[in-house]
Amino acid sequence: MTTDTEASGPGAAAAAVTRMMAGPVRADEIDLSIGEPDQALPGVLVEAAVRSLRDGRTGYTPKLGLPELRDLVAADVEAGTGYRPDVEDVVITVGGTGAVAVALAAACAPGGSVLVPDPAWPNYRVLAERLGIGVLTYPQGESGDGFLDLARIRSGLRAGARLVAVNSPSNPTGAVASAAALRSLVALVREFGAYVLSDEAYESVVFAGGRAPSPLADGGVDVTFAARTFSKTYSMTGLRVGALISPPRFRTAAAALHGTTAGCAPVTAQLTAIEALSSLPGRADQLSATYLARYRTAVQILGPWAPGTPVETLGGFYLWLDARPAGHTSAEVCAALRDRGIVTSSGLVYSATDGFVRVALTAPDDVLARALTLIREELDRLAARAC
Ligand code: PMP
Repeated sequence: MTTDTEASGPGAAAAAVTRMMAGPVRADEIDLSIGEPDQALPGVLVEAAVRSLRDGRTGYTPKLGLPELRDLVAADVEAGTGYRPDVEDVVITVGGTGAVAVALAAACAPGGSVLVPDPAWPNYRVLAERLGIGVLTYPQGESGDGFLDLARIRSGLRAGARLVAVNSPSNPTGAVASAAALRSLVALVREFGAYVLSDEAYESVVFAGGRAPSPLADGGVDVTFAARTFSKTYSMTGLRVGALISPPRFRTAAAALHGTTAGCAPVTAQLTAIEALSSLPGRADQLSATYLARYRTAVQILGPWAPGTPVETLGGFYLWLDARPAGHTSAEVCAALRDRGIVTSSGLVYSATDGFVRVALTAPDDVLARALTLIREELDRLAARAC
């Protein structure tokens, strides 16, 4: 239920997201609407989780996380960026969601504003509105140097934004920022005394291989909040553990915000995360290869409906489908696909531009191929009818 106040006021984005999220999925439907990895939790992680309970490790941990895990996260950041954060600036959070929330509140509340990309994961906007933080947008570009529209970001900073959210690889487009684009962003925010929120939820899924560039590299540490998660890389979405690396001057604010909202991240999840970082070093490469193969299959099956972007420049879990040539709104296309048994996300959850659909490539290969074939058929049918 939305109230009249919410329909036009600060809750508008949240209400819109609630309305547009797919309803409960039936057993005979194929769910491509959420970024829930279809791979099972790896066996060694199952063992670690069970062991934590058998060993009676069910109490609180230190608020900011188990010291061993904070160290391992610092080492993992160093492996990907060449920069090793001070462990005092690493907080183990309740998923990437917790890390993003702490960063947003630390940098912008009360009364500040945040610049978010369009399209983007809706949480930045919804939470900002709930915290009384203003929201400005900039267009999310293609992979590479054009990922960030620096002119638009500069205008947003001039208008008073304190934080610029970036999400590479992007949910929903899959675009990956170049290191040069992120360096330019770091220089720009520094000019304005502002900060970057680098949401790195998908940093391990890069089709060209390796890890996605981070603004933490090349000396961006004093202006960068980096939000990480174990959810996607290790199929740990429900265990709820992530990490926030904050600029040193936000050490106290991040600790206070995390400590008072989460207490600590779940201990079982933290112990499982220690095992993940210790014993699954090849996980990112495996995952990147899996999603690259799926994206290629999707391009082949979707034909003219597939994004024209070179696949090797992308990453992440999603395909951002421009259904506008079918002549219908996002909601109508999603409803038509649902009638065929395929659950997708309306593009309006992520963007102010109507006509897009987000397809999560998170189903086993054969199921995914079947679903994509039905999507192609339905889009062709809608387009033929629109002519
Ligand atoms: N950032 C982005 C862009 C995401 O898509 C997600 C999950 N959908 C998250 C952060 C957070 O995920 P979690 O809280 O499970 O770590």
